[in-house]
Amino acid sequence: MNQFEELLALEVRRYEHLYNPTMKAVLHEDQHMVYKSWQEIAKTLETPAELCKATWTNMRDRFTKAKGRMKKVKIGDAGGKKSSRVVPQLYLQLQWLEPHIKHRKTTNPHIKHRKRKTTTNMPLTQSRLFPCQSTVTMQRKYSLDVCAQLLRTQGYIDGHWISAASTFPVVDPATGEEIAKVADCGPAEAKQAVNAAHKAFYTWKQYTAKERSILLRKWFDLLTLHKEDLAKLITFECGKPMKESLGEVAYAASFLEWFSEEARRVYGDIVPPAAKDRKILLLKQPVGVASIITPWNFPSAMITRKAGAALAAGCTVVVKPAEDTPLSALALAELAVQAGIPAGVFNVVPCSREKTPSVGEVLCTDPLVGKISFTGSTATGKILLKQAADTVKKVSMELGGNAPFIVFDSADVDKAVAGAMASKFRNSGQTCVCSNRFLVQNGIHDRFVEKLGQAMDAELRLGHGSDPNTTQGPLINVRAADKVVHQITDAVSQGAKVLRGGKRHDGSFVQPTLLVDVTTDMLCTQEETFGPLLPVIRFNTEEEALAIANATEVGLAGYFYSQDISQIWRVTEALEVGMVGVNEGIISTSEAPFGGIKQSGLGREGSKYGIDEYLDIKYMCLGGLAL
Ligand code: NAP
Repeated sequence: MNQFEELLALEVRRYEHLYNPTMKAVLHEDQHMVYKSWQEIAKTLETPAELCKATWTNMRDRFTKAKGRMKKVKIGDAGGKKSSRVVPQLYLQLQWLEPHIKHRKTTNPHIKHRKRKTTTNMPLTQSRLFPCQSTVTMQRKYSLDVCAQLLRTQGYIDGHWISAASTFPVVDPATGEEIAKVADCGPAEAKQAVNAAHKAFYTWKQYTAKERSILLRKWFDLLTLHKEDLAKLITFECGKPMKESLGEVAYAASFLEWFSEEARRVYGDIVPPAAKDRKILLLKQPVGVASIITPWNFPSAMITRKAGAALAAGCTVVVKPAEDTPLSALALAELAVQAGIPAGVFNVVPCSREKTPSVGEVLCTDPLVGKISFTGSTATGKILLKQAADTVKKVSMELGGNAPFIVFDSADVDKAVAGAMASKFRNSGQTCVCSNRFLVQNGIHDRFVEKLGQAMDAELRLGHGSDPNTTQGPLINVRAADKVVHQITDAVSQGAKVLRGGKRHDGSFVQPTLLVDVTTDMLCTQEETFGPLLPVIRFNTEEEALAIANATEVGLAGYFYSQDISQIWRVTEALEVGMVGVNEGIISTSEAPFGGIKQSGLGREGSKYGIDEYLDIKYMCLGGLAL
């Protein structure tokens, strides 16, 4: 058996294990596309066509033998019914085979092809992943293959896909290679989108709550149906490992589901009046057009968390996604179309970093805009707040954090280590609620640090996000990696010790790093790192830990581990943050209000409070009543 056949045999065994006759379903459109791509790729395999054909036939025969019911499944006929599992799995297999593929073509004009570095004959047993301490070298080709309908590269305004005078590249941060070119919208397109949203507002707000709810639910269903493709877009745009990207899609979809339910629960109030001839009624009404500006680190969820609430309330929106991650936003627009959301209700204006300030200015100053909802850095938030001031717009600001993670002596050390791993290394440390400063009490310090180091060795693997075992993708860009390295260098120069990692790899990969003997003078405790750096500060008393934790201008999330119930109440009340995880490292969910205090922002997203951000309260005094 050669390597090719060996791999196929392995894959076939895996399918046999996975295949469940009850899963048989009509092929969905995206799977159909995947299948077609497979056919195209198969034609370009370096191996002789006969071998390709033989193995394909061989595989089909083996399936047929393995599962009697498979005889009814016509694999290979693009028009027929197929197992919903088989085709994507075959496609995955091809990704594994990529070192054997010499030239690869797809029909999608928006996907740029990369030159192969080498045609490797990598032994099948060789790991494609990289232990965190080794050098990261991309050993195979990675390409974005999603259903063509979801790979949108134009802006979406008033129900139309629109081009712009120029385009900007979207780059895979793991390889530095271009994956698409997207329309670079400017202020003119932004204004067009605001006008469209304003026009649509007058009809959208007249929809009944139930009608809006049904459309949001359809959008949710479509996100769920297309989760694989949406996750691939996230992985290729922002570097997130596929498992986390799938998690983000589920999280993103959960806001559409949640707000499809909340849409029907926007209640007013009737208030007891002081005068006998009056009634006091409070009505809740949508604020109008909402400008939504989002970051790259959750390219899908940061949009649905805002747009779900806005649309449920009866507002219409214009979304400006981050330059790095417009593809996810545009895929959401495509699914909004498919869900039947009317033209002008959901608009997307992608743009390059150069055009961002001018586009942002339109979105934050246009008199037709009633609301600005922003997620991003505190520095940008302050600019937008100033711009919003002239027309006194309603604003929501989800800004940066500097989360403390406190481990008290009474903590369950294993749970604290698990929480630290989840809270620090998710998205390679690039979430606003990632723990930034680890405060560990003297009595538990050494045990915690030792077990944490072991967990890092065992669990963290650097690599391309589409490799199934990758847990740590790249940082979003070289600047982000530079910042982490700068913080490490600064800490070491002031006496911190590196227990794990500490090095930079090619591109924007940084080793997950564990520092001890860290002090509050070091940059890594004063600034939000946004990378895989875990600095540990030792402390003696609860008061000392709280003083360090609160000594910052921001207050988004905070975490602590303790089994002392009195301490749990004391510390929860004393921490100056908007969200607290007690014995828990992951706290985000659509049911709970997300948001910060101090310079971490204004307003709340998700939960029953999230929809209020898009509603005005109108007081109605019904007087002169002869009662
Ligand atoms: P960022 O630089 O503030 O960018 C966020 C968004 O704002 C991007 O779409 C960006 O566009 C846009 N932007 C930048 N300057 C602008 C301007 N002058 N006018 C209008 N828009 C402008 O933040 P980031 O680096 O992408 O994201 C990381 C930050 O977001 C971190 O601080 C993190 O803590 C925070 N964050 C907070 C939350 C939360 O819920 N609190 C969630 C996630 C992230 P370009 O991409 O074109 O620059």
